[in-house]
Amino acid sequence: MVSLQELMAYLDELLEPQRFNDYCPNGLQVAGKPIVKKLVVGVSASQSLIDEAIRLKADAILVHHGYFWRGEDPRITGIKQQRIRKLLQHEISLIAYHLPLDAHPIYGNNVQLAKILDIDVEHSYDIERIPNLLWVGSLQHATPGSELAQKIGQILKREPLYLPGSDKLISKIAWCTGAAQDFIEQAASHGVDAYITGEVSERTFHFVQETGLHFYAAGHHATERYGVQALSEHLAHYFGITQQYVEIANPI
Ligand SMILES: [Zn+2]
Repeated sequence: MVSLQELMAYLDELLEPQRFNDYCPNGLQVAGKPIVKKLVVGVSASQSLIDEAIRLKADAILVHHGYFWRGEDPRITGIKQQRIRKLLQHEISLIAYHLPLDAHPIYGNNVQLAKILDIDVEHSYDIERIPNLLWVGSLQHATPGSELAQKIGQILKREPLYLPGSDKLISKIAWCTGAAQDFIEQAASHGVDAYITGEVSERTFHFVQETGLHFYAAGHHATERYGVQALSEHLAHYFGITQQYVEIANPI
């Protein structure tokens, strides 16, 4: 077991949230029991994840998408009240890391996505002064766009929305997990053949048509499953606590 205080000190040192001007507070968002033996892990702190954490007798929940987003109504009402009431009732802490968990060079969503898709990481770039947000690398073999779409679908267990580009095989590739469709122009500026992210917009189609870049919307949830899992496996090993990832299916 580990004290909540020690766990948070370790996470804040590892993930360096102070380097990020984020859209939400990073770290401990809701304080629960002072001791953590069991960690339940998921992508988003939805009611279903909380219910599962209660069932699994978790002391803390670790997520990528927590609460208190910039611009949202700060009052604790509606579904936010229901979620926080359950957490407090069961003394379950909510720990959330957003951008720091996208960017981390070992446990980050982007590095972990490259790992499962067999992409060799070459470089990461800052975007709007947010460190390591856009990643560039290469495939081991030049691959037709449709073949890469199939591979992404199989590995992430979710069919991507694929917008085909030019006839050129894909070898150099850029990616950013989540809702990063509007980094497509920065991605293209690095001379890549394809761009992978989670979500898509109407305007993405025209960009692809006019540049010949291949584009994959591989799922916001699906591309952001892997950082929290890598991190929690590390924490379990490091502190001798138990952890369990809970997949709450989300088609977006
Ligand atoms: Zn996200």
